[in-house]
Amino acid sequence: MILRVAIPTPLHRLFDYRPPVSGTLKPQVGCRVSVPFGQREVIGIITELPEQSELPLDKLKPANAILDAAPVLDSLQFYLARWAASYYAYPEGDALSQALPALLRKGEPAEFAHETLWRATQGASLDALSKSATRQRELLALLLRNPQGVSTDLLRVESLPVPLLKTLKDKDLAEAFIHHPTPLHADEREEGDILKEAPLTLNAEQHTALQDIAAGSGFNTLLLEGITGSGKTEVYLQAIQQVLKEGKQALILVPEIGLTPQTLARFKARFQVPVVALHSGLTDRQRLDAWLMAREGTARILIGTRSAIFTPMRYPGLIIVDEEHDQSFKQQDGFRYSARDLAVLRAKHEAIPLVMGSATPSLESLQNAFSGRYRHNLLTTRAGKAMPPAFELLDIRGETLNCGLSDSLTQRIETHLAGGTQVLIFLNRRGFSPSLICHNCGAVNECTRCDARMTLHRSPPHMHCHHCDRQTPIPLRCNQCGSEDLRPSGAGTERTEDFLCHRFPKTPVLRIDRDSTARKDAMSQLMAQIHTGKPCIMIGTQMLAKGHHFPRVTLVAVLDADSGLFSADFRGMEKTAQLVLQVAGRAGRADHPGEVVMQTRHPDHPMLNALIREGYSTFAASELQMRKAAGLPPFSFHALIRAEATRQGWAEGFLRDIREMMEEQLAAPAGSHWSGPFPSPMEKRAGLYRAQLLIQSRQRSDLHQLLMRVLTFLTQHKARKKVRWSIDVDPLDSY
Ligand code: ADP
Ligand code: ZN
Ligand code: ZN
Repeated sequence: MILRVAIPTPLHRLFDYRPPVSGTLKPQVGCRVSVPFGQREVIGIITELPEQSELPLDKLKPANAILDAAPVLDSLQFYLARWAASYYAYPEGDALSQALPALLRKGEPAEFAHETLWRATQGASLDALSKSATRQRELLALLLRNPQGVSTDLLRVESLPVPLLKTLKDKDLAEAFIHHPTPLHADEREEGDILKEAPLTLNAEQHTALQDIAAGSGFNTLLLEGITGSGKTEVYLQAIQQVLKEGKQALILVPEIGLTPQTLARFKARFQVPVVALHSGLTDRQRLDAWLMAREGTARILIGTRSAIFTPMRYPGLIIVDEEHDQSFKQQDGFRYSARDLAVLRAKHEAIPLVMGSATPSLESLQNAFSGRYRHNLLTTRAGKAMPPAFELLDIRGETLNCGLSDSLTQRIETHLAGGTQVLIFLNRRGFSPSLICHNCGAVNECTRCDARMTLHRSPPHMHCHHCDRQTPIPLRCNQCGSEDLRPSGAGTERTEDFLCHRFPKTPVLRIDRDSTARKDAMSQLMAQIHTGKPCIMIGTQMLAKGHHFPRVTLVAVLDADSGLFSADFRGMEKTAQLVLQVAGRAGRADHPGEVVMQTRHPDHPMLNALIREGYSTFAASELQMRKAAGLPPFSFHALIRAEATRQGWAEGFLRDIREMMEEQLAAPAGSHWSGPFPSPMEKRAGLYRAQLLIQSRQRSDLHQLLMRVLTFLTQHKARKKVRWSIDVDPLDSY
């Protein structure tokens, strides 16, 4: 028997080993195995147990040890990770390893947290120690007093030296043992006890959606399109309730930022079953414990970000992807998978329903709904008494802006504050001002490692590149002409905050961006202040757009609605629309009708008007028409080969070679073509020069076949050591 092992390396292949020479564990597919690899010892996963290898047996090294008595990856996870590796053209060993919690990757046993405790051996007594060995006697006395076990932490508290344990052990007076805390056990309560609070009575649209989810009837995908506050979460809760009643588990994927305590609190308030959150704030140990609880079925509700899609469920019942349009479901480096798209595959494989919810669905999902692949339910009214906000385009042509705000907007803010409510201002640029310009020669302070401007920050004062994180002191003079007249230009969150503090000295101004919330607890303190309901002005970036409910906000202002209108990215308009509506959705909940004001220099722009007058659905339908006419996704499929190198021209040259190989050796199937290589939109970033080659097909399968061939060109090219390349299937940005 041969062990065919997936090893986490950038190499796109598997490796064969002979079974370990000793050891009692039986090799099984899905088990971890430790193997020699070059000079190192690494942990891989057994993917196959073939009879023979292509290599002669004496060329194969034996594995060191099998690490698991049972597969750590169940068949679903195994299938999902391998499928994703193939689809995203990513090395299988790396993909399988990323499907595991970090501790399992490092070779820890797949067991709940345990600790080593110490106790006295049977029959041990103080008489065995001489009277003069005072410390040893103290220690043994302590052990004898605590037959349930003593931790080394306790010894430290008692000021007893830990090495003394070894002394007692050598005298056969003390022994170590492993203590397993009892894991949380499956709920053995009556069914009626699942609920902690009563569900709300659904309105007609919610009721239809719940029926369409049809938990228990096998695989189907439902796109739940409902404006913010229309009660999507309530539908999720009641669908989950059905699943729990059948003794099954539910997995809910949320965007990174959406995983607010508020969301979690709602699930915990509704159900009395174990709810487990999987997010980046957990320690490796907590993550493994949560993973184990999911695998053995004791955790009934799993809420997590992107990587939670790989969490095993013993009793799968339902998957929900909330805010399905959110870009964070697609990993943007390394293993570039889309958790949302993998959710479809997973639900199909597990024969369970999948719900995708959003106020602003992605055009991909909408197209799937229009073509009948997904069911499509709309929630058109806000639940309860809340009214949807009124939109307005504020023409700022010819107006002087004060730190990003026009006079009419400033007056509007004043009116709302005077009415005793709160105001939310959305600005997509953090920092004080997006650039520092020399008033004498016009030179802009640029990052030396990127094709980008440095952003001026005031607290603490420094220049910061938001692309590579480079930070420098604020320059005293222009590096082109030496002039000392350097002036900030354009508004960032800090500068607008400054202006508002002066203009409204009696009102608290709260800035919410990556800088102001970096400190632990800063976010919850800001939220606490907002939820007092007293008048205030919030100014923030994207962070404000998601997850939070601000019931006392009556005015939402978008300072620059134009930024995405003319972008080179064909998704620019879609992203703008989603962002604007998400921000708008924060306002006017409860009984305060809201107003959304968007500053624009293009008040007649047809797409902006479609969006605010007819809503997202109409906007999306006409955007889809345009994509169709242009043959762009979702009506075609894209893959991007990215390359980067330390010298200008290398990456592009490398991709040109690849293109030539494609031209010579591949016949592009009808409907497929490639374009480029082009320098990336920001060619230089963090000191590397970047280029890309786009491959496009009408059929997904054609794209995939092309990619498999291109992959062999890439891995065999001689320049591959000087150029770092990666493949991005279904890329979301940076065309
Ligand atoms: P969404 O997830 O679409 O933003 P939520 O589910 O959070 O919407 O609902 C918004 C608010 O309306 C919440 O306070 C919720 O409790 C309330 N709500 C939802 N559904 C109903 C209903 N059927 N009857 C009364 N209130 C509801
Ligand atoms: Zn100058
Ligand atoms: Zn930079």
